[in-house]
Amino acid sequence: MSGIAERLRRVAGTLPAGVALVAVSKFHPSEAIAEAYDAGQRRFGESRVQELTAKASVLPADIEWHFIGHLQTNKVRQLLGVPNLALIESVDSERLLECIDSEAARTGRTARVLLQVHVAAEDTKFGFLPAEFIDYFKGRRFEHLKATHICGIMGMATNTDDEARVAADFAAISSLRRQALEAAPDLRGFDTVSMGMSHDYPLAIAQGATLVRVGTAIFGDRGY
Ligand SMILES: *Cc1c(COP(=O)(O)O)cnc(C)c1O
Repeated sequence: MSGIAERLRRVAGTLPAGVALVAVSKFHPSEAIAEAYDAGQRRFGESRVQELTAKASVLPADIEWHFIGHLQTNKVRQLLGVPNLALIESVDSERLLECIDSEAARTGRTARVLLQVHVAAEDTKFGFLPAEFIDYFKGRRFEHLKATHICGIMGMATNTDDEARVAADFAAISSLRRQALEAAPDLRGFDTVSMGMSHDYPLAIAQGATLVRVGTAIFGDRGY
């Protein structure tokens, strides 16, 4: 017994209605995912295209895969080729968004994405700066997308024990989604707020998360 099913139930049991769980399985083997799957989990998150593709090819087809890592444009084609790819959460630049849109249009699919924003103090993290994010919607640059549905926003809080800082970062992410909607009130299905990881997801939920991405609290430590 690895305890995955039990930890999954514990985490899932703390989520209020309206908050969905992405079980972040990166760096864990397919067997671990199968255990969570057997306990009822269907939504899994991976951060590398190669790894997601390999796992998707051996695991059940009704898994909804979420991509949550930095995506290089030269991997977009391979990622969009995964039939049960549900959501690319980590679209961190307009250039990447354009690349995803052309590839989706070329293959006659619709890509579902979140735009990743950068609000945390760390300067190593990818994402739209708040002003860039708002400008994108004010400028209505989403209007020419042919095959991409922007479903909402994704972000991370500063990695710190200072809960007030973490809560403020999550509040900023939630607020950016509302500001985008004010700038473009006709946006449809722009509902998802993906924020919160193992150590901070309760704070994220308190600030309006609708999707939390939890790895370690379910699968244990990653061996890297
Ligand atoms: C790894 C990862 C997570 C999960 O982190 P845990 O601390 O293991 O819960 C969530 N979001 C992103 C973007 C990640 O890369």
